Amino acid sequence: MGRHHSFSHALARLSIRWRLALILFGLLVLLLGALSILVSATEEQTLLASQANVLTNEAQLVQTQLQPSKVRLSQAQILTFPEIAKEMSTGMASAIQTTLGQSVGVSLLSFTGNALTTDSGQGTGSDALPAHRVILSQSTVQQWLSARSTPAYLLANDSYGQRTLVILLPIAAWDKTVQQLDNSNVAVDTSGYRKALLQLSMPTTAIDQAVSTTRLILLLGVLAALLIAATLTLPLINLALRPLVEMERVSARIAAGSLSLRLVEPLARDEIGRLASTFNQMVARLEAAFVRQKRFVADVSHELRTPLTGLGGSLEMLLLGADNGDVETSYRLKSGMYSEVERMQRLVVDLLALTRLDDGHLQLRRESLDLHALLCELCEQMQELTSGQVLTCQVAPDLPTFYGDSDQLRRILVNIIENALKFTPAGGRIELDVSSEGAKCIRLEIRDTGSGISPQALPHVFERFYRADPSRSRQPSQIGGSGLGLSIAKELVEAHQGTIAIASQLGVGTTVTMRLPAHAKQTDSPDHWPRE
Ligand code: ADP
Repeated sequence: MGRHHSFSHALARLSIRWRLALILFGLLVLLLGALSILVSATEEQTLLASQANVLTNEAQLVQTQLQPSKVRLSQAQILTFPEIAKEMSTGMASAIQTTLGQSVGVSLLSFTGNALTTDSGQGTGSDALPAHRVILSQSTVQQWLSARSTPAYLLANDSYGQRTLVILLPIAAWDKTVQQLDNSNVAVDTSGYRKALLQLSMPTTAIDQAVSTTRLILLLGVLAALLIAATLTLPLINLALRPLVEMERVSARIAAGSLSLRLVEPLARDEIGRLASTFNQMVARLEAAFVRQKRFVADVSHELRTPLTGLGGSLEMLLLGADNGDVETSYRLKSGMYSEVERMQRLVVDLLALTRLDDGHLQLRRESLDLHALLCELCEQMQELTSGQVLTCQVAPDLPTFYGDSDQLRRILVNIIENALKFTPAGGRIELDVSSEGAKCIRLEIRDTGSGISPQALPHVFERFYRADPSRSRQPSQIGGSGLGLSIAKELVEAHQGTIAIASQLGVGTTVTMRLPAHAKQTDSPDHWPRE
């Protein structure tokens, strides 16, 4: 366990390429090793089996030639069985060795495993090599006899310690009618048949040599394969990992602050390709967020600077006594200061609203609203802000019930109507028109006959701090004009699951159209709008 842990720790500390190389190489060693062992073992088995086959065939052939079962043995002959056996064995041995060579050992065994004859193979002269002798233990013979499916061959060591292939063959025996005698020298089988086993043995030298040659070839082959693998693995892995390395390099630079950099996305849409593309999307969003944040800070400081400058200037004049004790001048300065403070307050309120919307902290109530009453009241309040423009309000009588936040709806409409008032000269018209579009949609339209918005500016009016004509709206006499009104309106409308659009033509006028969903409030629907 501990060992396994330290191994995986050591592996984890390596770089990916070395980990991959090690794993691949280890697998290759294992597989090639297993394959070599399998091949050489199979070869050995096949060679041994075919050798055993040759021996068995020969033994059977010889046995039929010398079939002793045809001879009816007398009791005396049975008692002298060893002699007969020896005779038989010698006959068989010479016949077999003539065909298969001197290295084949031939002997006869009793069924109990006793050797009936002990001679075999090679040479007879005193200068000849002593014969190979393979003595199987009685238990081996018994096991062989009692095995359900007798194996084709046995392996044993001969008197020289040389591995030898042994086959045993029951040879058909004496007449069944012969009385069984329990003579200590003679193996007795109650069946009366198959009194003896013919044992042929042959050293496996040739087979062993063939197998070791194969093993050597396999070993050299495996070593060569591993050498090739070792030289190719790392370069190939490096090639496959090149996009990753490149990504690592670029992402380090991105992390250091170069947010405009992007990873090169590999053509293949594999894991690395998808990773690169996701990473790029993430960086793009980060970059956009940073740009927005920078612009936001710059815009806010800019917005604060104007009223602060105004305030500072007026205060300085008052301190220096520029009003000369004149009540009117003093009032003008103070009211200027007051409107600058108001402007800052509005900016702070707007910023707070936007921040809450961004954070998802602004909770919109979801109550049934009497749109008719709300809009008429609002219109009346807004009349006080008009300076020569005609403000009318038309609300269809059969509006479906709208569930929403009255404060926020008021804020949306105030922002839009204030814009209309700001950009519509005296004598112009501003119309608020509310009607239903089907049973599920309420349409609010604010039309003015003001200066309109240029086609270049129109797509941007919902952006934060965007002003189509900054010089105009920065005039201290004008209230608000921080470029936040429409963006707040849009976010609030969308929080009500509605839509807002603006159409405008320079010199003709502007129309803002909102569509709000008017679905009936279900009994179980929440009192607040869900936040995304
Ligand atoms: P602000 O608070 O400065 O009015 P808004 O977000 O409400 O900012 O509007 C953005 C810009 O869109 C304004 O500065 C103005 O140039 C233009 N705009 C909005 N409404 C109208 C309108 N009814 N007529 C002409 N221009 C408009």
